[in-house]
Amino acid sequence: MRQKLHVIQKSLREECGVVGVSGLEGAAQLAFLGLYALQHRGQEAAGILAVDDDGEYRIHKGVGLVADAIKQEDIADFRGRTAIGHARYSTFGESELRNAQPALVSYRKGKLALSHNGNLTNAAVLRTQLVEEGAIFQSTMDSEVIVHLIARSQLDDPDDQVLEALNQVEGAFSLIILINDTLYVACDPKGFRPLVLGRLGPGIIVASETCALDLLGADYIRDVEPGEVLKICDAKIDALPRLAPTVPAHCIFELVYFARPDTRLWGCSVDAARRAFGRQLAKEHPADADCVFSVPDSSNSAALGYSVETGLPLELALIRNHYVGRTFIQPDQSDRDFRVRVKYNAVREVLEGQRVVMVDDSLVRGTTSRGLVAMLREAGAKEIHFRIASPPIRHPCFYGIDMPTKEELIASRLEVEDIREHLRVDSLGYLSLEGMKDAVKEHGPFCDACFTGSYPTPLTDLERGHVATARR
Ligand code: AMP
Repeated sequence: MRQKLHVIQKSLREECGVVGVSGLEGAAQLAFLGLYALQHRGQEAAGILAVDDDGEYRIHKGVGLVADAIKQEDIADFRGRTAIGHARYSTFGESELRNAQPALVSYRKGKLALSHNGNLTNAAVLRTQLVEEGAIFQSTMDSEVIVHLIARSQLDDPDDQVLEALNQVEGAFSLIILINDTLYVACDPKGFRPLVLGRLGPGIIVASETCALDLLGADYIRDVEPGEVLKICDAKIDALPRLAPTVPAHCIFELVYFARPDTRLWGCSVDAARRAFGRQLAKEHPADADCVFSVPDSSNSAALGYSVETGLPLELALIRNHYVGRTFIQPDQSDRDFRVRVKYNAVREVLEGQRVVMVDDSLVRGTTSRGLVAMLREAGAKEIHFRIASPPIRHPCFYGIDMPTKEELIASRLEVEDIREHLRVDSLGYLSLEGMKDAVKEHGPFCDACFTGSYPTPLTDLERGHVATARR
C-alpha cells in the first residue's frame, strides 16, 4: 500500500498554464505571447492549436521552454481568429510529446481540443470505467478522460456534452475546450486554479494569470468564477448553467509561491499578498539581526514585507543565475549542494561578519535551504535566522501543485526544532496558518490542504486504491 500511495502521489505532480483567444486575427501568435508570460507555470512542454475561418486546424507541440518548443516559424502560417495554448510542467516521469497539450481529437461533432490546468481526483476511476467500455487512451494525462466523456456523451448538443462531462469529473480544473470554433471555458466548483478573462480590441483572451493579459495589452474583464462554464464564439460570451455550487477553495499556494507577483488572483495582488505574509512573519518571528534578504525570486516580496515591518535593511545577499535550464544538471552531478551552487551564489561583501535573516516563501524538502545555509556560512555570515513565509508543508497536493511525496516533505517527518538543527540555522520561524489566512482573508476561502491535510473534495482515486496514471 505504501508503495502504491507513493506512485499515486508522484503521478499527480503537475502544474500548467493555459491560454485561449477568440475573435482576433493572428490568434496563434497571441496565444504564443500569452504562453510566454505563463512560462513559470509550465516549463516542460508547450503547444498551440489554431482554427481558421474555413475550419482548418493547425497544431504544434514541442518539449522544453515555450520559445524552444514553439519557434515563430512553426506557427507562422497558423491563421484564424481562434486559438488555444498550453504550457506543461511535470517534474516526474514522462515528458513525451504525447502528453503535451492541447489534446486534439476528431469526434462525431467535429474537432475537439483541450487545455487543462489542475488535477482531477477521480480520473483513474473514470478512466478504468471508460476503458472497460472500450475507450482507447492515447496518453497518460488525466485530461484525456474529459475528452472521452465529451466524445462518448449520448447527448447531441456540444454545450450539453461539455456540461455532462464536467459534472462527472472531480478535483481541480481550469479548462479551455475548443469544439470546432467555439471555446468552452470552465473552472471547477472549488476554483482551485486561477483563470481570467480579458478583452483585446474586438476579441477575448482567456488565461491562467493576468500577467498574460498585460503582455498582450488586453484589459482584464474578470475572473472565471468557481463552477462557471462559459461559451465563447467569435468573442461573444454566453454563460452555460453552473456546475454544482459549493464553498470555493482557491489554492493558497498560488499566492505563496506559484503565481507571478505581478499577477492579480481572486481580487488580490500576488505581490501585496506576499508582502503581507512577510509583515506578518516579522510580527510572529522577529530577529535580532543586521539585515534581511530573500531567496530570489519567489520570496522577494515577502522579504520586502519583513524588512518594512522590522526596519531591518533589505540586502541582496544571494544572486540567482536565471539561465539554469532544467536539463543542465546531469545525473552524475546529483550532489545537492552542487545543484544549489549552480543556481545561487552568495555575496561575501554583504554577508561577512553579519547576523542575517534569510526569508524564503516555503520549505519543501529542505534541500535547497541546507545548501544555501552552507553557502552563507562559507561567505562569512555570523548568525543565520531563517524565516519561512508560509506554514510547514506536511501533506501532498492532489490539485495540481508539484509537491513531493509526504515522506519527502521535511515538515511531515520533523518538528520545527529538528528542522532547525537539520538546516544548521541559529533560529527558524514559520508563518502561522492563522497569520497567513488572516493576511488574505478577503480573497478566500482557500484550500490549505498542503498545510493542514484537510482536502476540500473527495480524493476518489486515492480512496479506491487506484494508481492514477494521470499526468499532464
Ligand atoms: P526545498 O529545497 O525542497 O525545500 O525547496 C524549497 C524551495 O523550492 C523554495 O525556495 C520554494 O521557492 C521552491 N518551491 C516551493 N514549492 C515549489 C514547487 N511546487 N515547485 C518548485 N519549487 C518550489
